[in-house]
Amino acid sequence: MTLSGKQREMNQDKLVSRKIITIDGPAGAGKSTIARLVAKKIGYEYLDTGAVYRTISYHLSRILIPPVESEDLASALENCIITLRDGRVLLEGEDVSGSIRSQEVDRIVSAYSALPTVRRFLMRIQREQAGNADIVADGRDMGSVVFPEASVKIYLDASLAVRAKRRWKELADRGIEATYEEIMREIEERDRMDSAREISPLRVPEGARIIETSDMNVESVAEEILGIIESRAG
Ligand code: C5P
Repeated sequence: MTLSGKQREMNQDKLVSRKIITIDGPAGAGKSTIARLVAKKIGYEYLDTGAVYRTISYHLSRILIPPVESEDLASALENCIITLRDGRVLLEGEDVSGSIRSQEVDRIVSAYSALPTVRRFLMRIQREQAGNADIVADGRDMGSVVFPEASVKIYLDASLAVRAKRRWKELADRGIEATYEEIMREIEERDRMDSAREISPLRVPEGARIIETSDMNVESVAEEILGIIESRAG
């Protein structure tokens, strides 16, 4: 799927006929792994909104646009073309899948994500995606703000220690060295900023099922979500 500011206005009629499952939660709760797996099992498309916020932050910082409202920021967003394909993220054709998961992006993404211009821009193109396919969307405000009409809403959580360990392992697997304590501090700070921002803060959406995943493996979390989807469909 390609996300661009130059896309046309969304088609609301189309949106109503599509099925949407949302998965929200704090950093390191396992949202993307679980959402990707659930989407595959039920044949829906997976919309990784964290990857989109990361790509935009990476892009804006690379072209030296700071995380404050400005005309330069608005026009850079309009001209930015992001493609999500087969688990990869392309920024204007360049594969940035690895770069957007760096610690540098971890440290800047919450500041860009708190800007109303960035969120308004993404709100529009995220909803447009739901007009094109049935989707499983993960993020911070999927069930609360972007897709309040979703048929199933999940909120994944885990203790800070477990989430930091998962993130540390993910970085280590990619050859990135960082101490566990450093990762824990960064996750805590990102959660604080994502929860404290004025627009679309991280919170449990109304009607969401909370799943505490600290002591669960990926398969059992996916099974629990599939059970919820099945029971709602019934
Ligand atoms: O999910 P992930 O950790 O990749 O998200 C990176 C960051 O993107 C979050 O910390 C948050 O600042 C931002 N984000 C957001 N709203 C979303 C998804 C991600 O603000 N729906």
